[in-house]
Amino acid sequence: MTHTRRYFLTAAAAAFGTTTVLPYAIRAEDHAGDTFNTPAGDIVVHPVNHASFVMTTPPGVIYCDPVGDPAIYAELPRPDLILLTHHHGDHYKPETLAALVGDNTKLITNPEVFNMLPDNLKTKADQIANGEKATFEGLTIDAIPAYNITQDRMKFHPVGRDNGYVLNFDGLRTYISGDSEDIPEMRALKGIDLAFVCMNLPFTMDVKAAASAVAQFKPKFVYPYHYRGREGGTQDPAEFANLVGDGAAVNLADWYS
Ligand code: ZN
Ligand code: ZN
Repeated sequence: MTHTRRYFLTAAAAAFGTTTVLPYAIRAEDHAGDTFNTPAGDIVVHPVNHASFVMTTPPGVIYCDPVGDPAIYAELPRPDLILLTHHHGDHYKPETLAALVGDNTKLITNPEVFNMLPDNLKTKADQIANGEKATFEGLTIDAIPAYNITQDRMKFHPVGRDNGYVLNFDGLRTYISGDSEDIPEMRALKGIDLAFVCMNLPFTMDVKAAASAVAQFKPKFVYPYHYRGREGGTQDPAEFANLVGDGAAVNLADWYS
């Protein structure tokens, strides 16, 4: 945790101007956090791998779609809340969850994941479907649809099953896309400060669709994530950043070291 960039989202952000806060540098350190200063306290984002990341926040430590060897989370604080978007193996792995959860860890999942959770995890979990809300320590969490709209991709993420999430932090309204294309519900988001936007083929979307959506819902900061796929399906986050241009500050994190 030697390198921390600080972002100030209120008056200071305007004072710095757009160019000085554009975080184009690629982090060399594993899991180094990006700090966002909010009125309620700092929020630190730790990209881990592909779709897995950790946020330390005033309401608690939040893991999103943690999969992989539990050892890759060893240097991070234990989760108070785990968000799960859907059941695919790059988002949901019960063995990883079993190793990470503590006595007081809560899970929020889409209904499909909830139904497949082992009993000892299910007792810690709440399910919310598209359009529903949950709360955690005063934080309101909205389940946003996440699905494919291209005909030959709809088998991967059909309408109505999987979740994205909006986390309504005071001063850092955060959107996590889950696995989705540039659906109307994403394009219609309002007031998003920070966004995690997926891109890979054939499972989600290409950089053009992702950048087009970002141009419409206008987050202040955006992490391209989930950008590797099967051979040929990788999307280039630098190309995404070029397409977004001055439309948002693009955070290029090292998701695949
Ligand atoms: Zn998926
Ligand atoms: Zn995925």
